[in-house]
Amino acid sequence: MRFRCSGRMALSWVLPRVLPELARGLTRPGCGRALRRAASASASVAPDFNSFVTRTNTCGELRSAHVGQEVTLYGWIQYQRQGLFLVLRDFQGLIQVIIPQDEAHSHVKNLLCNAPVESVVRVTGIVSPRPPGQENPKMPTGDIEVKAETAEILNSCKKLPFEIKDFIKKSEALRMQYRYLDLRSFQLQYNLRLRSRIVMKMREYLCNLHGFVDVETPTLFKRTPGGAKEFLVPSREAGKFYSLPQSPQQFKQLLMVGGLDRYFQVARCYRDEGSRPDRQPEFTQIDIEMSFVDKAGIQKLVEGLLQYSWPEERGSISTPFPSMTYEEALAGYGTDKPDTRFGMKIVDIGDFVRRSDIRFVQHALSYPHGTVKAICIPQGVRYLKNKNLESLKESAKSQFNQEIVEIICRPDGSLKSLLTRFLGEKQQSQLVQALNMQADDVVLLAAGEEKQVCSALGSLRLESADLLEAAGLVLRDPAAFHFLWVVDFPLFLSKEENPTELESAHHPFTAPHPSDTSLLYSDPTKVRSQHYDLVLNGNEIGGGSIRIHSAEQQRFVLEKVLKEDSEVLSHLLEALELGAPPHGGIALGLDRLISLIVGAPSIRDVIAFPKSFRGRDLMGNAPDYVTPEELKPYHIQVSWPLEEKEAKKN
Ligand code: ASP
Repeated sequence: MRFRCSGRMALSWVLPRVLPELARGLTRPGCGRALRRAASASASVAPDFNSFVTRTNTCGELRSAHVGQEVTLYGWIQYQRQGLFLVLRDFQGLIQVIIPQDEAHSHVKNLLCNAPVESVVRVTGIVSPRPPGQENPKMPTGDIEVKAETAEILNSCKKLPFEIKDFIKKSEALRMQYRYLDLRSFQLQYNLRLRSRIVMKMREYLCNLHGFVDVETPTLFKRTPGGAKEFLVPSREAGKFYSLPQSPQQFKQLLMVGGLDRYFQVARCYRDEGSRPDRQPEFTQIDIEMSFVDKAGIQKLVEGLLQYSWPEERGSISTPFPSMTYEEALAGYGTDKPDTRFGMKIVDIGDFVRRSDIRFVQHALSYPHGTVKAICIPQGVRYLKNKNLESLKESAKSQFNQEIVEIICRPDGSLKSLLTRFLGEKQQSQLVQALNMQADDVVLLAAGEEKQVCSALGSLRLESADLLEAAGLVLRDPAAFHFLWVVDFPLFLSKEENPTELESAHHPFTAPHPSDTSLLYSDPTKVRSQHYDLVLNGNEIGGGSIRIHSAEQQRFVLEKVLKEDSEVLSHLLEALELGAPPHGGIALGLDRLISLIVGAPSIRDVIAFPKSFRGRDLMGNAPDYVTPEELKPYHIQVSWPLEEKEAKKN
């Protein structure tokens, strides 16, 4: 078939026919763009919400154009007032239903007046304009109402544990216990529907436009060395356990060895990290892997993917995203995930105070990694109280063992601080300039070991931004989305618990930076990696790398640098010896990404059935006990902690 680029063909006709052509590369160059437009337009065709069911319309879709029509609606009773009208709700919105008052409809009146809120009802009636003056401009359906003719209570609702209204405050534990009720809220409906829409667009972009293959990989597997702790699943073979993978990392690499070329998956991942705020033991990644690709290729792919799937109602995002090295991020923001929506960057002021007589400054600068750095809090004098400044200093002390000294810029531009008497006029004006200090700004200064100073100031930067905003100064536009690539991470970091040992900064499959490869064998601590992270508004939303595809290099990293037992990965090492193409990939944290897009305070707000802070399902009460009989096939016995044994006895 010859494909013509011009002409407005029905999309349902175009897409199934041309996409195989596109995949075979049969279309001409300009046609690719046309197809792209066509494919993107396909997503904007309005779905038919009323197919396959006996309702004629959804509650929320009715407008003045429907006036005069007889409609059949299904929904939940939001409220009922004075026996005269009720408001019916479905996933699309609210509609006012007029309860008939005449004798002939007394049965309908009876039903609708006595049904408790949140009962499920069917109403058939005529769409009518609201009487003049009674329109409700706040409701999308506010110009009309439905005059009920017949009604049926499909399920009467018992007393609710909480009202299904977004503005009613309820504890998160209660919301999680009755998650199916919480899901009825407009906010959660919006969040889950937006999530579904974005994932659909991602599939479209990856599979239809760029030839990725959606492959499901096993969730019952075996331990992967390094990285997060994995959940174990018992097997019927005595002493043998499966692991739930923390990501499909090995499989996606093996798919490249298998010649799939471009893989993606909406992948469920598991990490047994105990209770950590705003983490989930099971979460979802958009997992991607490509053969014959470099860092720039993956970055371009991800930028295109996000741009394509970005919801219109959140504005547009521009690409390419800015990029920063790991070193720059740590030096300027004290973290590898900088929030670049606001300034207050960390400034090195060592040169200006070097010749002063300040003892702790001299002491810090006498060490090889000694440094003096500062951040400037704009309008700190006006927006921060003394107790705020004290709590900032206290937090640097308790979290980082770091002393902080403050410098205040008076309205006349002069400086007030314990340090000023040690600083000459020139040094003071150099400081003012370097930190761009204005009247009423407060500077927090730290001297000490570079990494500790940067981490402390990076944390104070975020804490003071929160304090300034709580006091009314808007620093971070809630509608702004600042993407940032962080690159050139070190390949290995010292283990926190034993600094003489190394662990992978990303994971053990990450390739060294091409210009540092020889260092791998002489001084691994100095090797930069081909690892990249994607940061959005100060949150890591993705990470990936170009992989090691040489078995020899992979074995060296595992055995000699990380001191891991490479036998656990013998299948992967063997695969790398059997014609593995160069490859790389990335995983985007879908839950975090969606929560940032919708501005949700927690990732739990974009997951249908999340776990609690402690990893429990509060609705179904999982995890749960099983009987010793159920454990027998797995050759497992529970060794009860003493206090639980006692509790069970009583
Ligand atoms: N598997 C990695 C992760 O889950 C991502 C990647 O390297 O592609 O963080």
